[in-house]
Amino acid sequence: MSSSPRSYQSYKELDFRHVWHPFTQHQTLFEGDNPLIVESARGVELIDLEGRSYLDGVSSIWCNVHGHSVPKLVQAIQQQAEKLCHSTLLGISHTAVLDLASLLPKFLPAGLDRLFFADSGSNAVEAALRIAIEWWYRLGDTRRTKFVSLNGSYHGDTLGAVGVGYVKDFHGHLEHVTVQSLRVNPPHVFRFSQGLSEQAAVEHALAALGKLFEKQSQSVAALILEPLVQGASGVWVHPASYLAGVAALCREFDVLLIADEVATGFGKTGSMFAIESAGVVPDLLVMGKGLSGGYLPISCVASSDRLFRGFLGKTEEYKAFYYGQTFAGNPLAAAVSKANLELFTESDLLARLPSRVEFFHRLLDEHLEPLAHVDEVRRCGVMVGIELTVRPGHREAYTPQSQAAWRVCNRARELGVFIRPIGNVVVLMPALVMGEDDLARLVEVTARAIEESLGSV
Ligand SMILES: *Cc1c(COP(=O)(O)O)cnc(C)c1O
Repeated sequence: MSSSPRSYQSYKELDFRHVWHPFTQHQTLFEGDNPLIVESARGVELIDLEGRSYLDGVSSIWCNVHGHSVPKLVQAIQQQAEKLCHSTLLGISHTAVLDLASLLPKFLPAGLDRLFFADSGSNAVEAALRIAIEWWYRLGDTRRTKFVSLNGSYHGDTLGAVGVGYVKDFHGHLEHVTVQSLRVNPPHVFRFSQGLSEQAAVEHALAALGKLFEKQSQSVAALILEPLVQGASGVWVHPASYLAGVAALCREFDVLLIADEVATGFGKTGSMFAIESAGVVPDLLVMGKGLSGGYLPISCVASSDRLFRGFLGKTEEYKAFYYGQTFAGNPLAAAVSKANLELFTESDLLARLPSRVEFFHRLLDEHLEPLAHVDEVRRCGVMVGIELTVRPGHREAYTPQSQAAWRVCNRARELGVFIRPIGNVVVLMPALVMGEDDLARLVEVTARAIEESLGSV
């Protein structure tokens, strides 16, 4: 039962009157006239004002790891709150962030143990880009001023991050106010535009990057990519061999490698970090979303000592890294992040993950692949993108005005499952702890919602 003092109607009015939602077309929201208003959450269920529960099929936008309202995580916040809710990291430290720093490097590749904390994925991406550019500058190489990124990547919504993660439909109007990166096509673009096999596509993509580096590497500070999965552009997956090849080219041409693991980190691809699949150690590794288990906003850039040392000098040399957020490394967020990492160890979650992922993927094959309006079910670990097609047997995206993926998600909501689309793709991203019964419910409801919304032929 709801414990809130107001009715759904009055909360809805407040929402429609005052809140400007991110990534949301309010006209559609107003017309729908039934916004989902969550009041609490438990395990993998979101519970609305009227006590209805919804399976959280996107782990609250890819953050949640161990489920909601887990006592250990809630207590970590409560206990920290009684000691210290906020103190700055500008020039001084606090025990909560140090306790986290004592644990986090154990989960990272060796050599990435210098931790720069921030408050969101975007801001950590900005920090990584700035570290890369400034490091070359401090070194005296002032030509290295450009970034390379993959077409269709997403790195956050601040203007620097949009420059490397530009998507025309969303950011066309920002072209002239962002610093545009040099872009290369990831393997899937070759696979679809030229009908290449996966291996040939990887070779083509690496050859294209090699060519770019041969011409321009001396003007490039860093390459940034989402390892294994380009999440927000529709869950596009590339093989580990591509990641390994990119890392090798970066080494060969002396270009810094930034791994944006904001989405892929903390188990989402099946290992703690996606880079592990290719044995790659980047120069900078960016973490966000799952760092706190999805409980509080915090992010981090793990850096090599080589980069860190480039910023040392006397005060008057102005070599310090002039970058930071007020709430960077907030104690409450740091405390719950530490508890999140402890829970990974205590619950042996990663060891149990492969069989769960296998079970999940089998469900996708059984229930989603055969559907007439499903063209492809891309997956890596618990990250899944279901590409819809108007024409069974051919790839043809639904028009934006048909709102196909939205209709699917709305129908799923009526059936008790919360999922969200990206364009023509329905995304599933369960928390790592989601059990077999709930995974089955997630996939079966999604399949039913697709059939009922789009038809079976
Ligand atoms: C979500 C995301 C970001 C941005 O993180 P915010 O916390 O939303 O600023 C950056 N990179 C990737 C890969 C992401 O998925």
